[in-house]
Amino acid sequence: MSVLTPEGALERAAEAGIHRLRIPTPFAVGRVNCYLLEDRPLTLIDTGPNSGKALDELQGQLKERGHSIDDLELIVLTHQHIDHLGLVEILVEHSGAEVAAIGVAAERLANFSEDAESEDEFAVQLMLRNGIPSEVAFALQGVSRSFRGWGSKAEVTRPLADGEDVAFRDRTLQALHRPGHSPSDTVFWDAERRILIAADHLIAHISSNPLIARPLDGSPERTQALVTYIESMRKTREMPAEIVLSGHGEPIVDHVALIDDRLVKHERRKEKIYGLIAEQPRSGYEIAQAIWGNVAVTQAFLTLSEVIGHADLLVNEGRVREVDDGEVIRYETAG
Ligand SMILES: [Zn+2]
Repeated sequence: MSVLTPEGALERAAEAGIHRLRIPTPFAVGRVNCYLLEDRPLTLIDTGPNSGKALDELQGQLKERGHSIDDLELIVLTHQHIDHLGLVEILVEHSGAEVAAIGVAAERLANFSEDAESEDEFAVQLMLRNGIPSEVAFALQGVSRSFRGWGSKAEVTRPLADGEDVAFRDRTLQALHRPGHSPSDTVFWDAERRILIAADHLIAHISSNPLIARPLDGSPERTQALVTYIESMRKTREMPAEIVLSGHGEPIVDHVALIDDRLVKHERRKEKIYGLIAEQPRSGYEIAQAIWGNVAVTQAFLTLSEVIGHADLLVNEGRVREVDDGEVIRYETAG
């Protein structure tokens, strides 16, 4: 039995007509992986961000395979983040391609500007309620606004249900909703070839951030992003995938080991956070500072999402409770 390497996995995907296109982004994460599916319909899974540089590179990489943007017949979106979907409007204008995405996200995707504004407002309130100083919260809101131009609205013409099969000439991909990293994360499963196109649900070189977000159904409660993400990872763990193609970096050829490793790390971080809360009641921000120091300021929303996610696990286990003094929420041990 030969052991599949990430390079070998890319080759095998390419033999199956799935080609990785690496599109530049202005974000710390670096390039985003889009996947060209050479099938009927000719399909692009994710688009890259809305920038001239991304568009140029996408055009160049399509041309290398003998295609142009006008040839695209279907664009599939894996989730709501702008590094993955920013070019969708421009690509649809040129190609008239259909746009497929998980149906529960369609309304949000169609109202991108208003939705991004609401999401930023939500993030500011969340940060303030968890003890982040207002100047930090508002500075981050400004950063987020300045990035909005890399996004785009998307008119989903082909809303997908969880578990729905998308039929192509040469294959069937099953759309599976796997929220956690974002509420709309969707993975695409080729059962015949045992290839999972997973986008940011699973990334080899970085642990996907379970970012706290507004639920897709418009309810005012925040998501329990990490709780949801762990459930989603457990489902993916059970799949007999041989190759997992990610939204950033290299393919994953041992997803069970990777998921097990991530689950252990979350368990460890949860116990570390429990230890900090057991010492004294602390706000989410105070916990983040105790763990990450100054990174808790520069990456305040990211680190707060991590803390709240693990605190949610502890609250659900009945070991920790939230105490609200009307301004700031603090965590203390329960029982
Ligand atoms: Zn993402």
